[in-house]
Amino acid sequence: MHPENLPHKFAAAELNIFTTMSALAQEHQAVNLSQGFPDFAVDPALPQLLYEASKAGFNQYAPMAGLPGLRDAIAADIARRHGVTADAGTEITVTPGATYAIYTALSAVLRPGDEVVVLEPCYDSYKPNIEMQGAKPVGVKLQPETFRPDWQALKDAIGDKTRAIIVNTPHNPSGTVWSRADWDCLAALVSGRNIYILSDEVYDQLVFDGLQHTSVLQHPELRSRSFALFSFGKSLHSTGWKIGYCIAAQDLTKAFRNIHQFLSFSVNTPAQHALAHFLARPASGGAASALLQQKRDYFLELMQQTPFRLLAPAAGSYFQLASYAHLSDLPDTEYAVMLTRQYGVATIPVSVFYSDRHDDKILRFCFAKKEETLLQAAERLSRIG
Ligand code: PMP
Ligand code: GLN
Repeated sequence: MHPENLPHKFAAAELNIFTTMSALAQEHQAVNLSQGFPDFAVDPALPQLLYEASKAGFNQYAPMAGLPGLRDAIAADIARRHGVTADAGTEITVTPGATYAIYTALSAVLRPGDEVVVLEPCYDSYKPNIEMQGAKPVGVKLQPETFRPDWQALKDAIGDKTRAIIVNTPHNPSGTVWSRADWDCLAALVSGRNIYILSDEVYDQLVFDGLQHTSVLQHPELRSRSFALFSFGKSLHSTGWKIGYCIAAQDLTKAFRNIHQFLSFSVNTPAQHALAHFLARPASGGAASALLQQKRDYFLELMQQTPFRLLAPAAGSYFQLASYAHLSDLPDTEYAVMLTRQYGVATIPVSVFYSDRHDDKILRFCFAKKEETLLQAAERLSRIG
């Protein structure tokens, strides 16, 4: 056996940044604002419902596409929140997380040699997932500081080989949010071409300052060519449950399920029962956005006492960007390691989200944390000279 001869299917680093920084945080007992996950409790009804479902005997395989009761609940929820109609039988598939759904959607549409346009900086799984299909990611940088799309650059990147474009709103890591006008611009660019849209909307329930999330599913021209991907991990503060869902037109869902049935086949049954019951309760509309907005504001206020320069307040997601360009010449990956080791605060260096490792000396801070966690981090960061 020669494990060194195993194929390298993609160009990414050996260990991804979230594993690396969370491990470093643990090693140095640092406050971990790196990997995006809440450190506060989920609604106590969730573990109770999970326990009850398992105790009631729901411990065997769920149907391949997801529990019908959960898919009905998702259809009702998406209609209420986004005014979108999705058929629970033919357009909604429950998945083991959104990362899995992104892989599955890419696998369903890509052929070797295809190109997929990604707007950078972007979530770290997109590019390796594209490369695993024998396809090629084509990075297009969002504009500096604002992280708005550069429509001309996007237009220039689209060619005969372009098979898909990945959009992420609210955006990780910048927290920017797309408007209807943005979707219209994208629709104009893909009109008349065979290009699919993967719309990563995992932070759809974390939007601030009265803004509304705009889903690709609301766009009449894009709806039929799009996979919209969501995660209960984000909306219910339960990232460890790893359950999400994909909404796509019937023919795309068929292709998606064709892969899914041979990948994980189905998703944790008692957890699906728990989620179905949880969604059926009277809706607490906007609660997650209100909670996270409060945390964002608290974090922004605390950061004023530190020497970092904050970028625009996040309009959504649970990440805030800040620059240290005036403090150090270190590359952001080294600066993030230094901060963890010497000051006890772990963050994510934004260059890892660019294929060319473009470095503007910006760090990503996750503010989905208890107030005491954020306070402790800010106290430590304010010691920086
Ligand atoms: N997309 C984005 C933009 C994310 O930030 C994340 C990370 N949580 C995911 C997808 C993955 O979601 P899940 O944990 O459900 O796989
Ligand atoms: N989405 C999370 C983040 O961006 C982490 C997900 C992961 O650990 N793979 O921090």
